[in-house]
Amino acid sequence: MRILIVEDDSALRSSLVTQFSAAGFNVDSAADGEEAMYCGREYPLDLAIIDLGLPKLPGMEVIRRLRAEGKSFPVLILTARDQWQDKVEGLQAGADDYVVKPFHFPEVLARVQALLRRATGWTQSVMQAGPIALDTRTQTVTVSGTSVELTGFEYLVLEHLMYRAGEIVSKTDLIERLYAQDYDRESNTIEVFIGRLRRKLDPEDTYRPIETLRGRGYRFTLERKAAQLGST
Ligand code: CA
Repeated sequence: MRILIVEDDSALRSSLVTQFSAAGFNVDSAADGEEAMYCGREYPLDLAIIDLGLPKLPGMEVIRRLRAEGKSFPVLILTARDQWQDKVEGLQAGADDYVVKPFHFPEVLARVQALLRRATGWTQSVMQAGPIALDTRTQTVTVSGTSVELTGFEYLVLEHLMYRAGEIVSKTDLIERLYAQDYDRESNTIEVFIGRLRRKLDPEDTYRPIETLRGRGYRFTLERKAAQLGST
């Protein structure tokens, strides 16, 4: 998933960039409100984390403008501890959730994952479809209860396809959202990853979780399992 981090404190910004990258996200960052507007308009983002106190254009105004332009990705705001009015105003401007500074990274990560799940119609941190269960917290995958060894990138491809189960995801979209900017963008490597995923998830070619739509992209085909009471 591709996320934008907008924070003018350079130490905090680079720490968030490092930690989200290590957690498997493709991360863009901006140090002021104008740069944030540029990234929000130009990049195919899945989510943005926006600090409210920003140079050039306040975070609140960035959110208002992006929403006015029809950008619907989830927005998580960073606020100072005692400024409850900011939380209210931020949510009213179109933010979806907030984290209070100073925070611990696991809290920000959990909120980001929850927002991404909700935005894509999944309610639980374990996404289940057919015999496949993908746990977004541990980044592990099982098929019919047996764990499947995926490389980090194979996991990300599967996670992205499952987040958007039932939809066609183009090769370009996968590349733009999953590869870091400096990655060699050879689109045929996506085909290699999809091929490996298919062999690992469905070695007998029985339930065909990933469909190829020639010239259009890929689609995760299995039905999402409805939420079960009592599970996580
Ligand atoms: Ca700030």
